[in-house]
Amino acid sequence: MESNELITVTSPLLPDLAELNVLLEDIWNRKWITNSGYYHKELEKALCEYLKVPYISLFTNGTLPLITSLQALRITGEVITTPYSFVATTHSLWWNGIKPVFVDIDPQTGNIDPDKIEAAITLKTTAIMPVHVYGKPCDTKRIQEIADKYGLKVIYDAAHAFGVEVGGESILNAGDMSTLSFHATKVFNTIEGGALVMHDEQTKKRIDYLKNFGFAGETEVVAPGINSKMDEVRSAYGLLNLKQTDKAIEARRHVAVRYREALREVDGITFMDDMPGVKHNYSYFPIFVDAERYGMTRDELYFKMREHNVLGRRYFYPLISTFSTYRGLESATPENLPNAHRMADSVICLPMHHALSDEDIEKVLEQIK
Ligand SMILES: *Cc1c(COP(=O)(O)O)cnc(C)c1O
Repeated sequence: MESNELITVTSPLLPDLAELNVLLEDIWNRKWITNSGYYHKELEKALCEYLKVPYISLFTNGTLPLITSLQALRITGEVITTPYSFVATTHSLWWNGIKPVFVDIDPQTGNIDPDKIEAAITLKTTAIMPVHVYGKPCDTKRIQEIADKYGLKVIYDAAHAFGVEVGGESILNAGDMSTLSFHATKVFNTIEGGALVMHDEQTKKRIDYLKNFGFAGETEVVAPGINSKMDEVRSAYGLLNLKQTDKAIEARRHVAVRYREALREVDGITFMDDMPGVKHNYSYFPIFVDAERYGMTRDELYFKMREHNVLGRRYFYPLISTFSTYRGLESATPENLPNAHRMADSVICLPMHHALSDEDIEKVLEQIK
């Protein structure tokens, strides 16, 4: 007998309601509900420690730190980026009047292919915006070498890479800045939320101004900033969620181990293994369907799973470069992006979250086997 319960691709990590209530009472007593209050400061401190980063600035979502980092670094002209991401990555360039230049991905990792970056650099290029897709670290060393050679800034969209470390060091310390998303669907969430990670106090100060209209004091506005401050309620919610994040990541790891064990035997289905020396966060579990060997196309499998109440997601399909705003760009042609197209056309992200039961996992696997 099959149950009718939906198995969703993700499920939000929620703090204990009684514990949240205690903090809400405290916020009510303090009567300070936004503008860098007590819990905002506490969450920034706790995140610096947990993520092993020197400075962080909280935001109200994960898109505004992308937009603000570009403004802070005064990025103009052209920026090299990947079409294999969530649309917010490229949108942040558009919001700054910057022309996105798409470079193809490495078919092993889904990340921008460093070997193809140099050919895309022009006199107008000012920065590179890579994405740690599925939390798999980019080749940050190679990317930095290229950036240094041409005097480019590097901003990582690290929305998927919460807590990811390479050789014991946070991946968020790579490049000039990294952005995070704390959206409900992510490994760590504050319902909506996000952050910017930076290396020095001066930059942190500037970012804090920019997310508060550019105010540097009561009467001084230093730049046309935006309003993107995280409030006290979501900061407190985040503090509680942070305490259970290690446990949630361990539960996700358990799911990944079982998926891999079972799917290794399925002809025509491939997936990504852990990388040596990397502490992963198991944020997503993408599988790739080879229609000929598997005997069914990606979409056939995707819709068959849906019929049986197993909701995967085709992240990232369609590619950003195919959306109407961007498809007219020279770099957006399928010929320029063959690996990205192949991955977008074969991927399904399987249900992956902390609350999947062993029964749920087997039900997902049944659909594929
Ligand atoms: C989720 C996500 C974002 C945007 O974050 P929001 O918090 O939803 O604004 C940006 N980039 C990537 C790669 C994401 O997955």
